[in-house]
Order: sequence, then structure tokens, then C-alpha cells
Amino acid sequence: MRAAIAEACTQAGRDPAGVTLIAVSKTRSVAEIASLHRLGQSDFGENYVQEFVNKYTELANIQDSTKASEQGERLHWHFIGALQANKSRWIAERADWVHSLDRLRIAERLAEQRPAHLPPLQICIQVNISHEARKAGVAPDAVVPLAEAMAALPNLKLRGLMAIPAPSTDRTQQRQSFAKLRQILETLKQEGHAVDVLSMGMSADWQAALQEGATHLRIGTALFGPRPSKTR
Ligand SMILES: *Cc1c(COP(=O)(O)O)cnc(C)c1O
Repeated sequence: MRAAIAEACTQAGRDPAGVTLIAVSKTRSVAEIASLHRLGQSDFGENYVQEFVNKYTELANIQDSTKASEQGERLHWHFIGALQANKSRWIAERADWVHSLDRLRIAERLAEQRPAHLPPLQICIQVNISHEARKAGVAPDAVVPLAEAMAALPNLKLRGLMAIPAPSTDRTQQRQSFAKLRQILETLKQEGHAVDVLSMGMSADWQAALQEGATHLRIGTALFGPRPSKTR
């Protein structure tokens, strides 16, 4: 996967150092995560709070009991799923990133619940770029107001935007969706926000996302193989 990303970066005239691969490990076992980590993968993405907390706890024990020199870089956890207000504390206390922020109320809770000894929680606003009625994310024109409201909150750092476009097998269409998200990020920058992250691209469309400037690819299936379909 890393070689494929490096190759695609070369073709797109981009530096692979500017692209972070997030291994989306929902439904995967702690053993699978640990073995990928031994191969040098340190960024992992999870969708479900309880599943994340269980894995986080087990893996923290593994990391603590292994010598620092053997374990390589520590794990970085990206929460990428729907976040309910009553579960925000679990995430505020453990995650490094939240990619799926779509409400000020959740931002306020995360800001209040983020422990002061931890670095600021890195945040992406999730945008519903395909205007799908039942999809998560804020409407494109709600991004700037939400960012403005968040600017006053402590313990959070707004880094950029995330989107899951409507699935398409057409590369041109995929690119158009991702280009929209890039344009919204440009607007945020023009409004004075220091944002630099485009979290976009999954197993089926990451090449198009890279061509449009993705900085964080969220890849599950292409790394781990198909998920058991009955689970999710
Ligand atoms: C599951 C998921 C992914 C990864 O999807 P794949 O198609 O398996 O690569 C990425 N982002 C989000 C938000 C997801 O829920």
C-alpha cells in the first residue's frame, strides 16, 4: 500500500511525506493492529466508540509492557465515526484526532473534556459534499460559521476537513467531489483559519483523492482485506 501511494504521489507530482496513511481498523482484531504496527504503521482509524475504547486499552497495555526501542512510534488514534454527545468523553480522553466533527455542541464537549496534560485534540470538520440527505457532515456553507464558533474553544485544534463522497466508480466524478472539499478548505484559509488537512480517500477512490490534494487517506479494505459483511 505504501509503495502504491508513493507511486501515485510521484505521478501526481506530490511529496509522499505530505500524505498520512490511516489504517481503518474497525472490525479488525487487536492482533491485526499490532502486527501492522510492527510493520511500521502507526496511524489507525476507528468508527465505534466502544470498540475503540476496548482496543485502545488492550493495545496501551501491550505498548507499556514492550520496551520503547522495540515498539517504534507510538500509536496515533483517529476517530472517524459518528460521535454522540454522551460518548464524547471517551474520545476526548484517548484519541489524537477526530475527523467526524459535525456539530458545535460536540466540539464544546470535547474542548471541555480534553485533559489539560494532553496535546490539543486535532479536529476535522466533516462535510456532506454530495448533499446526501441521510449522510453525516455539515453542509458546505455551514463550514465557515462552525469553524468561527470553534475558534474560541480551548484544547482543540481545527486542522481541516473530512468527507465521504457518494460512491462512484468514475475517476472524473470522484475527483470532482474531492475538488469541492479542497475548495472549501481554500475558503477557510481565506477566512484566516490555519488549516492544512484534507482527510479524504478510501480504498475505492484514494487515487482520485491524492490527485486533488488529500493529506490523510483512510484505508481499510485495501490494507486488511474485505470486512466481514454481516458485521457492518
Ligand atoms: C470504513 C471507513 C473507511 C475505510 O473504508 P474502506 O473502503 O474499507 O477503505 C474510511 N473512512 C470512514 C469514515 C470509514 O467509515
